[in-house]
Amino acid sequence: MVSYKDLGLVNTREMFAKAVAGGYAIPAFNFNTMEQMQAIVQAAVETKSPVIMQVSKGARAYANGTILRYMAQGAVEYAKELGCANPQIVLHLDHGDSFEICKECIDNGFSSVMIDGSSLPYEENIALTKKVVEYAHAHDVTVEAELGVLAGVEDEVASEVSHYTKPEEVEDFSKRTGCDSLAISIGTSHGAYKFTPDQCTRDPKTGKLVPPPLAFDILHEIEQRIPGFPIVLHGSSSVPQDEVDTINQYGGKLPDAVGIPEEQLREASKSAVCKINIDSDSRLAMTAAIRKHFAENPGHFDPRQYLKPARENMKKMYIHKIVNVLGSDNKL
Ligand SMILES: [Zn+2]
Repeated sequence: MVSYKDLGLVNTREMFAKAVAGGYAIPAFNFNTMEQMQAIVQAAVETKSPVIMQVSKGARAYANGTILRYMAQGAVEYAKELGCANPQIVLHLDHGDSFEICKECIDNGFSSVMIDGSSLPYEENIALTKKVVEYAHAHDVTVEAELGVLAGVEDEVASEVSHYTKPEEVEDFSKRTGCDSLAISIGTSHGAYKFTPDQCTRDPKTGKLVPPPLAFDILHEIEQRIPGFPIVLHGSSSVPQDEVDTINQYGGKLPDAVGIPEEQLREASKSAVCKINIDSDSRLAMTAAIRKHFAENPGHFDPRQYLKPARENMKKMYIHKIVNVLGSDNKL
């Protein structure tokens, strides 16, 4: 049994209360590699932002859960070394799909877990979430639950259609489960192809796809039903066009990749939305930098030569999100 407290990590409780009251959102960045971890920590320290480092099922399969936990422990020490006296870093399990995996993470140093019962019938989602909450709270670990289904593909989480969260369920669900935060579905989507071209309109000037707007009416109704309760948005990468263009310019093939416009995420951050998940944008920033580097330096073969600009590009993206989209800078 390893407690996250011994690793210098924190849970989300105080962080979310401050974010909801202050009208900003905490960035939740997925990580699989050392370079992502370094970029996340550098960005958070330089902007004085709390940060959630999250681990998906795919990340554990790729990098090994134990290694990722030690990397999060390393992230805390690295932040201190960079001059941050009191880093606020959460190690979060993204899309936990069983009580057992949540328990395993809680027992091994995670400070926050998500139990995703959103594909289950309502009462089964409540029963599973409640069971995880009871175990987690006994260890002062916070729990994110989910109501509603997001479209898109994220590691092993995939759905072809989205089902918006039903506002009439959120009060009953949050009360009966005791969860600390709730991921809702209001039109965000997993992956770099969040919408098919026929779901979008085309900007007549640029020819670029314009996605359908988020369902702010549902978000606002949820806020009224559970005032101040922390809301989470998954699948909230904006799929920056310049990164997609760079990838395509240097031999990639990502036609019509489309994400959530940053203006809408900025607006959501000012509401009860206090955690915004960003994964695809980091992948795109890394891939764009590496493709460009190889095109310009075909003789390079030392991974440090191409991973360094990849790390720099991810860091730039993380800082941009923190300062210009989520507003979580200068909150430590
Ligand atoms: Zn997700």
